[in-house]
Amino acid sequence: IVGERQDGCGNLLDESERDKLTGLYNRRSFDRHLQRQLHGTRPREGEQAGQTWLAILDIDHFKRINDTWGHLYGDEVILMIAQQMRASFRHGDALFRFGGEEFVVLMSAIDREAATAALQRFRTRVQDHEFPQVGQVTVSVGFAVIGPHDYPATVRDRADKALYFAKNSGRNQVFSYEDLRARGALDGDVTAGSVDLF
Ligand code: GH3
Ligand code: MG
Ligand code: MG
Repeated sequence: IVGERQDGCGNLLDESERDKLTGLYNRRSFDRHLQRQLHGTRPREGEQAGQTWLAILDIDHFKRINDTWGHLYGDEVILMIAQQMRASFRHGDALFRFGGEEFVVLMSAIDREAATAALQRFRTRVQDHEFPQVGQVTVSVGFAVIGPHDYPATVRDRADKALYFAKNSGRNQVFSYEDLRARGALDGDVTAGSVDLF
């Protein structure tokens, strides 16, 4: 039997959609939340319609944390990152733990600048937090806009490319796929002009 409990707002929580360690949504529930995020939220009166963004958040050098301090401290770091996510993003954003030390956020934002600002706020919050024993932990973030005709897998792939770029440019950074594309900074882009960034 799948247990049900209520969240702070009186909504029923389906435990099978939650990650056991953090209580964030799990990967399995992603498609359902994506549909809701894309079609469920209407702007209020006088409010500009925003766009939906998919961000992948990945802890930097997490293997090193595990190797140095052990898995229990590693798990503690994962838990705290989940808390930082709850503190950084808006109520209507959907927060996921996708794999071991990889997280996904589905968020609404007016434009790329607003999305970037929210993700930078999260990145800075993590960077400035003193983790017990472990000390400083950083995260890298890649994100992409979800267009009305995009397949979820395509958008995930784009966000992943931006994340890969962040990892390769020193980590502890936030990059948007569209921004990198416009700058011609991505692999396989024939117009690439910033290969020297690597
Ligand atoms: P990068 O900065 O490139 O992301 O390096 P990384 O070390 O974070 O990435 P990598 O993918 O090499 O290692 C991820 C590690 O996360 C490997 C695995 O042992 C660990 N891991 C995966 N799931 C869990 C978990 O639930 N708990 C703990 N403690 N560790 C986990
Ligand atoms: Mg990592
Ligand atoms: Mg990873």
